[in-house]
Amino acid sequence: MAKLEEYIPIVGQATIDDLRLLADRLKDKLVQHINSTPVGGGVAEILSCMVPLLRELGINTRWDVIKGGEQFFEVTKKFHNALHGRKEEISQRDFDIFMDTSNENIREIDTCGDIVFIHDPQPIALIKKKAQNKWLWRCHIDVSEPNQKVWKFLMNFIPNYDSAVFSSPNFSQKLPIKQFLISPSIDPLSDKNKDLPQETIDAVLRKYNILKDKPIMTQISRFDRLKDPVGVIQAFLQVKKYIDCQLILAGGTASDDPEGIKVIEEVKEKAKQDKDIHILLLPQNDIEVNALQRASTVIIQKSIKEGFGLTVSEALWKAKPVVASNVGGIPLQIKHKYSGLLCHSIEGAAFAIKQLLNSPEYAKKLGENGRENVRNNFLLTRHLKEYMLLFLSLYHGEDVVYL
Ligand code: UDP
Repeated sequence: MAKLEEYIPIVGQATIDDLRLLADRLKDKLVQHINSTPVGGGVAEILSCMVPLLRELGINTRWDVIKGGEQFFEVTKKFHNALHGRKEEISQRDFDIFMDTSNENIREIDTCGDIVFIHDPQPIALIKKKAQNKWLWRCHIDVSEPNQKVWKFLMNFIPNYDSAVFSSPNFSQKLPIKQFLISPSIDPLSDKNKDLPQETIDAVLRKYNILKDKPIMTQISRFDRLKDPVGVIQAFLQVKKYIDCQLILAGGTASDDPEGIKVIEEVKEKAKQDKDIHILLLPQNDIEVNALQRASTVIIQKSIKEGFGLTVSEALWKAKPVVASNVGGIPLQIKHKYSGLLCHSIEGAAFAIKQLLNSPEYAKKLGENGRENVRNNFLLTRHLKEYMLLFLSLYHGEDVVYL
């Protein structure tokens, strides 16, 4: 695990000094993160990088995960989709299942943190345990057009928190509590993002029987309809009519996402006649993800909805040209034609990919600009600073000034 000093060559001494100053003021606090899965998906990714650094800064930090059965996670996945604006039938029985599991977690989980930091809707009802401590609700979802039934249900809990955090100004809501807009981040020194020797990259390609004989387009995501893997295949097939290339669709599943298996079957069905489409079921292995991203000529993120899309920052940090949908948190990361290309359709994605494959110099420039944008805005150090300011604001109200 990287040490704070190792970030200095990337972000500068002053950034690390700021973090130490802020952390000194939080030394007597226990920060407790609670979410719904220890691995898989962006929230677990961020916490696994952030928790060790908070500890290294001297802030007592714990990370707890709620428990739930299959039915509970089927319901919370429906909530997730509905909050992203997808059409879902939500019944009273779904709300009852949600509350039954929530009540079990309320009984089981010790919410002893001075600051209890709840991530996403799955553990939201734990707020019922609020005592004298401070509670934050961090929403990682694009709730710009939420299903009203689910949002109203969440509003039974949200106003009892001290503050809420959203990833983008577009997601802010009318709430009776303070809201903070803090975008997620990636860790440049994690196994997922650190530099890799070419031999490691080649070994991963060999493992998955991928040759380097033609350009590689890649989307790495959980197999989730909102990531539109079928749309990626359709865009690839359009590109392939003009340019000989190959596609990697790689992903694992998350323990709080029961839809994955069905989606993988759909994707395999669509891909089965084409030997240039590699569907990879990845084990939880950050080096492999890193290697696949680095081996790619173009990275795609053709999401239909996206809270933020860490995979976009991960690709840009590797200076890769990215084609991604203009949805959710993605336009925070990509300025069209400057640090990547945004698209709105399968045809648009195919057009943008062709443009990048045909103009390597342009593609390279977009990737380099993207890397600088990530350095300035989406690294873990910026995120840590904003979270610590947020923690301090819970105790100092209006006295805290944003740096
Ligand atoms: N990821 C991974 N293995 C996979 C699929 C995804 O490690 O097989 C990682 C990906 O690199 C990223 C995170 O999971 O760090 C996904 O975060 P993102 O914000 O892109 O999407 P989410 O899954 O949270 O919707």
